[in-house]
Amino acid sequence: MQREIKQELASLGIVFINALPLLPSFSKKWLIRHVIGITPLQAHFLVERAAIYKPYGKFKTLWQYIMWRDQRVCKIRKAPICTTNATQVDHIVPVWLWGRSTPDNLQAACTPGNQWKGIKILAKAAGPKQTKAIIITLVCTLLILSWIIWQVLIH
Ligand SMILES: [Zn+2]
Repeated sequence: MQREIKQELASLGIVFINALPLLPSFSKKWLIRHVIGITPLQAHFLVERAAIYKPYGKFKTLWQYIMWRDQRVCKIRKAPICTTNATQVDHIVPVWLWGRSTPDNLQAACTPGNQWKGIKILAKAAGPKQTKAIIITLVCTLLILSWIIWQVLIH
């Protein structure tokens, strides 16, 4: 329930935020923060997410401009998972690390490449300790799974 309300608020937010075209983004963030009462990072997130759907030059949205500029070719190019065909617009510096929705911080990306990049940055931000914990958990799960499969196979 909460999630649906949040999604509704987010789409309403995009309309609301982009309807304030004359305000520079830092004052939008300030306004949203004090009107809705959220953290600075949440306000940053809302404004920068919404900015991707703002008109850009002769383009309907900034999203469409980035896709046109990068010719729908993935810029992450992580072998072997990259499908080359870009379906998403990626923030080079993620929004949650205070990255902005400016053309120089945006690039076209394929879905698997973008997911890989997200996980890589998350692991990096989590620090080596957490990364170790994640790897150990993965290895343990794999061991248990293979043990179960082996048990099933020999019986
Ligand atoms: Zn890719």
